[in-house]
Amino acid sequence: IAVSITAPAAEMGKAWQFAFLTLLPLALVLSALFILAALYWQKRKLSFQDELRRGITNNEFSVYYQPVYGTEAQRCTGAEALLRWRRADGQWIRPDVFIAAAEAENMIIPLTRHLLKLVEEDVTRWHIEPNFHLGLNVAAEHLQDSEFIADIRQFAANVAAHRFLITLELTERSLISEGPEVVQRLQQLRQEGIHVAIDDFGTGHCSLSYLQSFPLDYLKIDQGFVRTISSQEEETPILDTIISLAHRLNLKIVAEGVETARQLHYLTQHGVGYIQGFLYAKPMDNENFTVWQHYHAKRKLTSGEEHALTDSLEGKETPKSTSA
Ligand code: C2E
Ligand code: CA
Ligand code: CA
Repeated sequence: IAVSITAPAAEMGKAWQFAFLTLLPLALVLSALFILAALYWQKRKLSFQDELRRGITNNEFSVYYQPVYGTEAQRCTGAEALLRWRRADGQWIRPDVFIAAAEAENMIIPLTRHLLKLVEEDVTRWHIEPNFHLGLNVAAEHLQDSEFIADIRQFAANVAAHRFLITLELTERSLISEGPEVVQRLQQLRQEGIHVAIDDFGTGHCSLSYLQSFPLDYLKIDQGFVRTISSQEEETPILDTIISLAHRLNLKIVAEGVETARQLHYLTQHGVGYIQGFLYAKPMDNENFTVWQHYHAKRKLTSGEEHALTDSLEGKETPKSTSA
């Protein structure tokens, strides 16, 4: 096919003029704007990474510990380590915000290594009995890293004197997306005495197949399901199903975000072995946690339970905390 176009020379001149004097400068301006926008975005991205790095070197991170109550032992049987970031200007950044950002910007592994160092320092001040459960949150990306096992082994060796039961808390997302390599790693660590918990159960994915293939010890019921226990009349079908599923799979159960005596009562009645939430204790910095351990760790939850139960029955349900 041949296409031939003929135009008068004057028209051609005008068209060239339009292209040179209008379109070309416009294209240049748009390109410059695009480059500036890209540079700005890149800088912002870099600066957040830098901020996280600076935060680590300037010691702006610390670890809070939230006690976990064992319903059988009727005392504090463990604690979860939760990272906190207070910037030099005194501003606190919410953990869900900076953890998500660290995950997005490939900083979660250095940040978790930093957390492990901080925990190692903190526990030197603890006076606890052997087999205290120490819960650590592990991100999906770290689980896939070839150094993962080495990091956990190193940590376990550095705190070996305390004879903790280290529990790695993994989200469903990290288990779903990964294949046999991760299963192998977890199996290896479990053989070395490290426990594995599935965190925020029921909030991530709908597939349950991983429950059969992954080596797990604990199932942590997300606060969203615990919250459904509000009154005697209301049914809690999903929560009940999760609890019986965990029992069938021989997994120990931790209920998260327990805030009311009614929730505590319901959960213990249904065979939930571990309770974590503001009703028992809020997360505390290391100083408060060591004081709390000294005065409250061996206390039964029953007296508070009776108190709170009376409150709730009178319709004055308030979350209680025994944090120091
Ligand atoms: P998570 O692992 O589910 O941790 C429990 C969260 O629930 C904590 O929030 C805790 O303060 C809060 N919580 C505990 N009991 C109650 C309660 O009774 N009521 C209410 N309303 N909340 C309660 P936090 O510390 O803000 O942490 C948020 C999330 O950030 C964590 O959720 C975890 O996913 C992530 N995170 C925190 N520290 C780390 C860390 O060191 N590494 C990783 N990978 N993630 C972390
Ligand atoms: Ca957790
Ligand atoms: Ca959780």
